[in-house]
Amino acid sequence: MEIHTNNKLKQNLISIFFILILIHLSFSIKGYNFKSQELITKDLKCSSSIRGKSIILMIGDGMGFEQLKLARWVEIGKDDRFSMEKLPFHLNVTTNSSDNLITDSAAAATAMATGNKTNNGMLAISPLLEPLETILEIAHQLGKSTGIITTTALTHATPAAFMTHVKSRYNTSEISRQIVENSNVSILLGGGKDYFSASQLLQLEMKGYHLLENRSQLISTNYSNLIGLFAPTHLPYEIERNPEISPSLSDMTIKALEILSQDPEGFFLLVEGGRIDHGGHKNNKTNVALETIEFHYAVNTAISYSKTNGNVLLLITSDHETGGLTILNDTLTNNIPTSNKNAEENRLIRIERINNISVSWTTTCHTNQDVPFFGYRTDFYGLNNLSIIDNTELFNIMKAYFSITLVNDSNSLIELIIGVVIAGFTTTIFVIIYLWKKKKKLRG
Ligand SMILES: [Zn+2]
Repeated sequence: MEIHTNNKLKQNLISIFFILILIHLSFSIKGYNFKSQELITKDLKCSSSIRGKSIILMIGDGMGFEQLKLARWVEIGKDDRFSMEKLPFHLNVTTNSSDNLITDSAAAATAMATGNKTNNGMLAISPLLEPLETILEIAHQLGKSTGIITTTALTHATPAAFMTHVKSRYNTSEISRQIVENSNVSILLGGGKDYFSASQLLQLEMKGYHLLENRSQLISTNYSNLIGLFAPTHLPYEIERNPEISPSLSDMTIKALEILSQDPEGFFLLVEGGRIDHGGHKNNKTNVALETIEFHYAVNTAISYSKTNGNVLLLITSDHETGGLTILNDTLTNNIPTSNKNAEENRLIRIERINNISVSWTTTCHTNQDVPFFGYRTDFYGLNNLSIIDNTELFNIMKAYFSITLVNDSNSLIELIIGVVIAGFTTTIFVIIYLWKKKKKLRG
């Protein structure tokens, strides 16, 4: 009698276990199905188990559509497209600030970093002087690593709006103080050594940062907390850059991704091609073209990273257009820069091509023109139906990506495989027990 009860108990336990496995399996399959983009879109609004992990935001300062076209014509010819232009999502972005139709970099960066419009000149602070939380700070709260890369000084408007809260972008001592004391950004790469005092650099060293001052130090480092100050103020223009000394925007992007990708919690990385704007203010088409071309190469690095690493949101945009650039006509040939020519040959080809394109400018200031936006993995946000968004929306996209949970492709696949294996194993045992019992009964 007791043996019979035990057997029944065993049978019941096995059945319950089997049912649990089936439930687990059905959830695994459901999770795996969410891989389809359409289902991800729907599911994003109602959560699951894994948050959007990493974000790369790339800003070409002063890069309008025409700047991009000029760079493209020089580098790959009129008939091809840059890889960013081939990404699935592209929109126009409006850029006005809260007190001016024409924004400056501080207000535009504040809009993208915080989702709020502010006055020109202000950094992550409202017109009423309230500090505004930035996407970089949200990343920290979520336990992620962060990085800031720029070809300008690190204290310049665009990077500063992500790291500091300051009423005036020209208050560089307050900006550097906040970067050193509060920002906790693990990778800081750019220029602006003159804006950091010796005691501030010492303070950073005490916090575990390694100071880098040239390209070879950057290439060889494997420390995870870096402050690269590669120039007294801004990094040199591409045309003046000595590759033995100064890193390019691509060099810095490659290194930052190499380090930040080691954080299992993910990261937020800002990459700014900061000197397209400076070329525009000077109405210098050569610098505009060459700085935009280098930005394109940094973007290529981020695109291949995003394509090979799941769960990375990539946004490429600009803060405003500078100069009111228009291409008038050209006498371009088919001789474009290629990888089988050496750097000097390619440099000369670029210069010749720039000289074969004539342009006009309407101003030495910024304009109110819309700027381009290209995105990879941004489809979930319902951008498909839009052709134009405001720059504040970029913050909303990033915040949504960090706060809304995603189904991770590889994890759900692993879960599915484990589910199938466990279910198969349990079923086999169940069948063996059943057959064994049947055999015993027959014998009996
Ligand atoms: Zn500017």
